[in-house]
Amino acid sequence: DELTGLPNRRALNSTGDGALARSSRSSQELAMLLIDLDGFKGVNDTLGHPAGDALLQEVARRLQQSTRAGETLARLGGDEFAVIAENLTDEEAARPLAERLIEALRPPIQIDGQWLAVGTSIGFTVTSDQNRPTSTADLLKQADIALYEAKRQGRGRALSFTPAMAVEAEVEARLLREVQLGFDRGEFHLVFQPLVSTNDSETVAFESLMRWHSPTLGIVSPVTFIPIAERTGAIIEMGRWALAESCRRLAEWNALYPDRRLSVSVNISLQQITDDGLPALVKRVLDDTGVSPHQLQLEVTESMLAINPHKVTAPLQALRDLGVRVALDDFGTGYSSMAHLQTLPVDCIKIDRAFIDRLKLLGDRQAALVIQAIVDLGRALDVVVVAEGVENQRQLDALLLQKVEVAQGFLFAYPLEPEQVGDFLDRQHLLSDSTQPSTSTSGNP
Ligand code: C2E
Ligand code: CA
Ligand code: CA
Repeated sequence: DELTGLPNRRALNSTGDGALARSSRSSQELAMLLIDLDGFKGVNDTLGHPAGDALLQEVARRLQQSTRAGETLARLGGDEFAVIAENLTDEEAARPLAERLIEALRPPIQIDGQWLAVGTSIGFTVTSDQNRPTSTADLLKQADIALYEAKRQGRGRALSFTPAMAVEAEVEARLLREVQLGFDRGEFHLVFQPLVSTNDSETVAFESLMRWHSPTLGIVSPVTFIPIAERTGAIIEMGRWALAESCRRLAEWNALYPDRRLSVSVNISLQQITDDGLPALVKRVLDDTGVSPHQLQLEVTESMLAINPHKVTAPLQALRDLGVRVALDDFGTGYSSMAHLQTLPVDCIKIDRAFIDRLKLLGDRQAALVIQAIVDLGRALDVVVVAEGVENQRQLDALLLQKVEVAQGFLFAYPLEPEQVGDFLDRQHLLSDSTQPSTSTSGNP
């Protein structure tokens, strides 16, 4: 490898094949460790490639220093390194090596006068009587599955490959393909859940929620397929569709109920926000459907701002410049700092369902206090505060007391099929036209 002087992928392959042959002739086992730096891409993106290269060279040096006789270090490319360790007695003999490598990269590295802390994740596999891969490629595949799992469980750890991981990876890979295929076959649709004003139960908006009706799996929850689509990037295309479809439906309801001043709220994933094309797409969808910008709200989760506030602020501002509203979803769980919140371009905060849930317990003072604090914050920042997941009257009463103005939840309505929305709006109007007390909940689930 030119950059580090280590053996490259090709060299690793021949070392690996030789080691496999040797170990099959002896009673010694061998291990393949796959090493991946956490957050290397960030260094490359923010400090530039020369800094990235310098970092990789120092990483290579430290890893090399931590290996001993019978352990071959190689660089596979990018920030991926591998170690083959020979002459092991059993499966667990590779763990001390993995831990030594993680330890070696723990002290910060100085590049261009800056101290960088690079974490490491390691996936490894060890041959045994139950596990006899026949090629280096198979060893690498197993180590890669373990590495993926190590990262998923939280970076900075080393995990050993198990057959169960392989099964899980296979199931996931199949689901990945299924999601994309299902979307291409048009098996996705949107349902719409009303957001109502707490004082008169009037519907002010609908949140659009994706549903996948798979012929083989049945109705699949977005909790299952959205993370998958985010991982494959399919979310970009699915999100485009959801945005256009949400606005198309709203335009229909606008035409039928011109005096209702409805709006639609669409969930947006991080990848969509950081996709440069989003403002242009939003503009085009608004133009095509005739929906005015203030009737469209985009929901982003608080956690995504906590991960990378700087990457998100500018795109959100670009969207708001179009006149579109922005809501902070699942608020209270994402640990975004108060200081930062002040500068965030948002119009609405949606209190996470977890807090509303706790209002079901009689006298949960703490939950009430948190909600009170969020309402006060909302008032100070001049943003609308929405409570989601309202399921019963006791919760609603508590929210009314706290002066939460907008609510959403099964108490008012389940997410509706688009065809049911007209009926729902008609029924609600009948109720509010009659002499019903204003606190009655129209449109029961
Ligand atoms: P979310 O944005 O927090 O959406 C609210 C979820 O709470 C929805 O689940 C809704 O059906 C559910 N819900 C509403 N009222 C109640 C209630 O009173 N009690 C309870 N227990 N639940 C209630 P759903 O439809 O399963 O969606 C789950 C998540 O999937 C959403 O959470 C959102 O993060 C994501 N999602 C859904 N559609 C989209 C989409 O089009 N794009 C993206 N990026 N994410 C989506
Ligand atoms: Ca949402
Ligand atoms: Ca939410």
